Amino acid sequence: MVGASVALHLAKRGMAVALIDRQGPGEGTSYGNAGIIEGNTVFPPAFPSDFAELVRIALKRSPIANYHIAYLPLIAPWLVAFRAASRPERLLETARLMRPLMARAIREHEALAADTDAERHFSRRGWLKLYRTDAAFAALAPELDVAARFGIANVLLDRDGVLALEPALNGVFRHAVHWTGAVSIDNPLALTRAYAARFAALGGVTLTGDARTLHRAEPYWRVDTVSGPIDARDVVIALGPWTPDVVAPLGIKLPLAVKRGYHRHYRPQGNAALSRPVLDAANGYVLAPMEQGIRVTTGVEFAARDARPTPVQLNRLLPAARELFPLGAPVEAQAWLGARPCFPDSRPVIGRAPRQRGLWLAYGHAHWGLTLGPTTGRLIAEMMTGATPFCDPKPYGAERFLA
Ligand SMILES: Cc1cc2nc3c(=O)[nH]c(=O)nc-3n(C[C@H](O)[C@H](O)[C@H](O)COP(=O)(O)OP(=O)(O)OC[C@H]3O[C@@H](n4cnc5c(N)ncnc54)[C@H](O)[C@@H]3O)c2cc1C
Repeated sequence: MVGASVALHLAKRGMAVALIDRQGPGEGTSYGNAGIIEGNTVFPPAFPSDFAELVRIALKRSPIANYHIAYLPLIAPWLVAFRAASRPERLLETARLMRPLMARAIREHEALAADTDAERHFSRRGWLKLYRTDAAFAALAPELDVAARFGIANVLLDRDGVLALEPALNGVFRHAVHWTGAVSIDNPLALTRAYAARFAALGGVTLTGDARTLHRAEPYWRVDTVSGPIDARDVVIALGPWTPDVVAPLGIKLPLAVKRGYHRHYRPQGNAALSRPVLDAANGYVLAPMEQGIRVTTGVEFAARDARPTPVQLNRLLPAARELFPLGAPVEAQAWLGARPCFPDSRPVIGRAPRQRGLWLAYGHAHWGLTLGPTTGRLIAEMMTGATPFCDPKPYGAERFLA
């Protein structure tokens, strides 16, 4: 999503652009998300502050998070930084720094989708976050307060209010917030493909190649593709969780970790249907209506990007999910696995690469890469073409990690 959006924005500005991927556009992490363009979100997911929840996670009983023990020492510094960034005043700072991007997210998607056939994948019914206890709902007060200050629309609902919107749900929750402004997508892969097709229609070239072949061939950067080598003065690295494979050999070592996540589709029982995505906050999963069925997405798993899949969280959450919605048989034989590319401060890196002429970075969008792809495309295209950026890009600069 990020790479295709960057390519499309550059092509729209009349630049000669090649989009290089080793698979088809949209087949990486962007394939499997919950499909929510969530311009509403104010706080990023935080390190758990509830001791009981931490113990459940440590004992591998929580559906919200899982971990591979071997990965923890490797990301210990990242976890320490993530925990520090989860303090209330830091979360507030992140909300403020991310707002310029978040506030444009839906508008920017609509602008890119305007000349494509992607409009049919957009649903403008918002999304629902459900809370099973009064305490969980009460803990939302700071988020609702910030949302009010930012002017983000929401409606607080009781059980009956939710069931009026989504009659197929069972009332196993007590409260909900309906974030009415959010847009959901019923096929994220089709959306990226539509942006890539628009890019091609504008004269952009899509090539198959391995970005790890990137090297200097003065005065250009060169990448080897199946169609031969291709040279350019400027290169944007937008490889999501694979970005370190290319930038680390160039001496760019930024603190990226992955929060892996799974999904699986289920057929609804009988005529049951959902008309918008639903988060069960107590269990950290989303039920998202997709063309393929009801997509159940999991919370986070701290494990090496390429370690074998361990979709235990799906088993942990399924009883709660089946209690909430009449899920039928699974559609696929196995769960899909993706890796959210995350910096500890939950902000992406968008801008020039340090100490490398003509190299640009657009990655680390964590839980918000579908949401922020087109906005990222605009920002980096404005920076690359010397236009005035629509917002101050400094909070997203790689320099924040370099002492
Ligand atoms: C379960 C789950 C649910 C999520 N839900 C949401 C949501 O509802 N809303 C939201 O906004 N975000 C969500 N996200 C996050 C979002 O999906 C990611 O932030 C986003 O997909 C990252 O996009 P990207 O373009 O940076 O990376 P990717 O989509 O991973 O793209 C990277 C591309 O690089 C290519 N590549 C990798 N290595 C090479 C190489 N060596 N050579 C050439 N090409 C290469 C890959 O093939 C891929 O196409 C979710 C994530 C998960 C896992």
